[in-house]
Amino acid sequence: MRMKAISEMRTDHHQWRWQRRAERCLAALTKNGFRAEAVADVDAARDLLLKRCEECTSFGFGGSVTLRQLGLIEALREQGKILYDHWRDDLSPEEELQLRLDQGRCDCFFCSANAISTNGEIVNVDGIGNRTNAMTFGPRKVFIVAGMNKVATSLEAALQRVREVAAPMRARSLNRQTPCVTSGVCEDCQSPQRICRVTAILHRKPFLTDITVVLIHQRLGF
Ligand code: SF4
Repeated sequence: MRMKAISEMRTDHHQWRWQRRAERCLAALTKNGFRAEAVADVDAARDLLLKRCEECTSFGFGGSVTLRQLGLIEALREQGKILYDHWRDDLSPEEELQLRLDQGRCDCFFCSANAISTNGEIVNVDGIGNRTNAMTFGPRKVFIVAGMNKVATSLEAALQRVREVAAPMRARSLNRQTPCVTSGVCEDCQSPQRICRVTAILHRKPFLTDITVVLIHQRLGF
């Protein structure tokens, strides 16, 4: 009983800290021209996103563990929408490339962020660049979905999060032979298998793209 009480207390403190941080982050994102919303959990996020993109026909997805945790792709597939999702095992290299290209011209693009600062800056590091391209220009609507574990207190802290958390974990998930997979932190490697090749920082909303950031009060993705 006592252990349960302590764990509930910790959860409560976590939620309080995330709540305060989310409030700052949402205000800063809005000031920077983005639409920004916060929801309690993945179910609420999925419902919100499905409602916001009802009129869209074609959908692209950046490679993202967070998106998969939402069950969004399955829900859109059930609605018969056109999906450009390259995270599949049955694709030839040509088919995978075409899907990445199609993501840049779909009605609605979904991705996560590697980090978001409480000053309202969005940071992503890509190996290819289909995500960083599609989220800045091409699709009419873009939704960036992130758990509160990805919100950092400054742009420098956001970049540090990418180096110390997101990129090494992503490299490990891909079984890359890179130094970070051994040491657990970025070593700014020269490896031919390096996944960090393009850094995109959205300081303000790009002119022609309607971007909404949805923060979720849960720990999600890398
Ligand atoms: S630059 Fe290299 S060492 Fe650093 S996170 Fe990326 S892949 Fe890992």
